[in-house]
Amino acid sequence: MKNSFSSRTIAVHAGSQGDPQFKGAATPLYPASAYDYEGRPTLYPRYYNTPNLVAASEKVAALEGAETGLMFSSGMSAILTGILSVVKQGDHIIFQSDLYGGTYYSVSTELPRLGISISMVDASNPQNFAQAIRPETKLIYIETPSNPTLKITDIKAVADIAKAKGIVTMIDNTFASPVNQNPIALGIDMIAHSGTKYIGGHSDLCCGFLVTSKSLLQNVLSKAINYGGSADANTAWLVERSLKTIVIRVNQQNQNAQWLAEKLASDNRVKAVYYPGLENHPNHAIAKVQMPGGFGGMLSFETKENAHEFMGRLQVIKRALSLGGVESTMCSPMKTSHSKMTAEERKAIGVADNLVRFSVGIEEAKDLWDDINQALV
Ligand SMILES: *Cc1c(COP(=O)(O)O)cnc(C)c1O
Repeated sequence: MKNSFSSRTIAVHAGSQGDPQFKGAATPLYPASAYDYEGRPTLYPRYYNTPNLVAASEKVAALEGAETGLMFSSGMSAILTGILSVVKQGDHIIFQSDLYGGTYYSVSTELPRLGISISMVDASNPQNFAQAIRPETKLIYIETPSNPTLKITDIKAVADIAKAKGIVTMIDNTFASPVNQNPIALGIDMIAHSGTKYIGGHSDLCCGFLVTSKSLLQNVLSKAINYGGSADANTAWLVERSLKTIVIRVNQQNQNAQWLAEKLASDNRVKAVYYPGLENHPNHAIAKVQMPGGFGGMLSFETKENAHEFMGRLQVIKRALSLGGVESTMCSPMKTSHSKMTAEERKAIGVADNLVRFSVGIEEAKDLWDDINQALV
């Protein structure tokens, strides 16, 4: 695909493996796990090179403006494989402290016991990363917008700090999706996605992606083959199909989220709203630059009354963990992603007991507001 094509065109066409036999418009499903090896590179699902895996990963890579990528069985598999492709025993990694809960628990339990040391820094000031660099620092890892309070990390500032020291950078771009934010263009080396969210987009599958340069992929692929986190052909085929509509889905989610964030912010039953598209968001100006596609479909807000009772009264918006689907969902971080923290720990990172995380879907925004309006007291 030409780089000059717009993202909607790329989403529909990039990565397609075609149908040489019947000339159909869609990539056929190739479930085979055994292929002829004579005269060609061996295809095998755990080598990440079977046709449906390649179609889906090339589409995500093209949408991110990356050279290449791999598809994994989950976002966490992509994240951990990516990290372990860069570091070894004795190395040091700097993470931003606002991390997706699963990533936080995974890296803080798995990495130290392999002899890899980690630091967690407040990402609100990029200089905090510079100050945490040690001679053995090999990787800087960020996530923006963050979960669940939608904080924004200045991607280019962090990438520049790392580049000056020859340190590899990695970002979790799940919340923004490849539609709104393309960190490779800002100097980031590796992008991870939970494909379970906006990429799948219909709350019905689990997968992950890692996209990067061809040179860095060599290491990622050799680790990925050893760790065995490849996705299956059915999921890859479904994801290629989902990705054809990601731009129009996410555009609608951006638009709905902006409108709802403004409605919530002007309602006196709501104590606070967190959304990078609001002008009073502390990093709205940075978000505007690094999220040219839009501010995303995720927002959170704090109710004045009991948030759990509020969610119990919703009729259209579903109460659910996970995010990024076409249907709107809400969850309580206190009861889900942040339930293992004490009330004091949650307070320190701004996760109030009445905080509601809202994954805005593609429904009519007015219908969503009517549902919220009848449930708020
Ligand atoms: C869901 C999620 C992950 C983990 O992805 P899985 O597909 O559940 O393994 C990582 N990062 C973010 C931001 C997520 O939302």
